[in-house]
Amino acid sequence: MPSQAGRRKPSPESIQEPRCPLCGGSGELLHRDLTDRLYGVAGRWRLSRCANRDCGLAWLDPAPKELAAAYESYYTHAIRDDGSWRRRLYERLRSGYLATRFGYGGRNTEVWEKFGGNLLACLPHRCAAFDAGVMWLPAQPGGKLLEIGCGNGDLLERMAALGWQVQGIEPDSKSADIALARGLPVIVGELGDLDELDEQKFGPGAFDAIIMSHVIEHVADPVALLRACRRILKTDGRLVTLTPNLEALGRRWFGRDWLHLDPPRHLHLFTPESMLIACDQAGFVNASCQTTIRDANWTLGASLALRLKGRYRMGELSWLTRTAGLALLYLEWFYIWFDDRTGEELVVVARKG
Ligand SMILES: [Zn+2]
Repeated sequence: MPSQAGRRKPSPESIQEPRCPLCGGSGELLHRDLTDRLYGVAGRWRLSRCANRDCGLAWLDPAPKELAAAYESYYTHAIRDDGSWRRRLYERLRSGYLATRFGYGGRNTEVWEKFGGNLLACLPHRCAAFDAGVMWLPAQPGGKLLEIGCGNGDLLERMAALGWQVQGIEPDSKSADIALARGLPVIVGELGDLDELDEQKFGPGAFDAIIMSHVIEHVADPVALLRACRRILKTDGRLVTLTPNLEALGRRWFGRDWLHLDPPRHLHLFTPESMLIACDQAGFVNASCQTTIRDANWTLGASLALRLKGRYRMGELSWLTRTAGLALLYLEWFYIWFDDRTGEELVVVARKG
């Protein structure tokens, strides 16, 4: 990633802000009087940002003490119906793409599936969705994989079908119950309990891979979580983390209406630089970071809805905001060719070393 040196100007209110919890740099105010416009949790929050241009982490101020109410109905509790022929065709084309790109499926994949899958992956948002669908992990038959924050088990089930020995942790008991009903091994536990689970259940060096999709921005101490992940990874094990990107074009376009600000649930928002600092502090080596436009049509469409209507309900997009979201996704995809720091999400891959 290229440096962003010289991009930000210090705010006149920066001396009033607390220091960066990651690098200790001085804080500056990014937004004040943020409210929860998704689920209506009462309160007002500020978002502060580290003025150190080599970090740039943002954090919610004040950090909420009790978050349980903020997560009511946050998760999808339903299993999607996958029975249609279109869905089956899509799955086969995806298998074809995953066979050529990541080595899944071996010789069981047909040539037409590979051809069709790679043709479909020419659509940039499809390609990003395919990659995220295996969390950028190459095939490793029999490899042990842990998903932290596995929800109702969609991703875990897919990874199990692709040959991984899976394990999940999920704080929401309703979602975990759905995953358990699908026969997936899932522990109900707070993400902050990983230290305890580490000693009781897993032990050091238990996993070949750990994946976290939109988890690290929710925890009070991201470095502690990364350290716990590192402990339970095998020596050459890999951690893949997906999280909103504070440098995303969507945040520049929509400011305080950007969906991923999501107060009070998102306690930290990372830049590529601050994510690498966090990995380094947790002891990971060779961490790399890229940005992706996966689901950017939804993020940008929902941000537009927030701008136009002042609030947004999960899953509800009008024809206008859905179409505009897709158009903005393509604009962002084009922009990334010239500035690869600006996708809506960060993908961080770190090895234990
Ligand atoms: Zn900092």
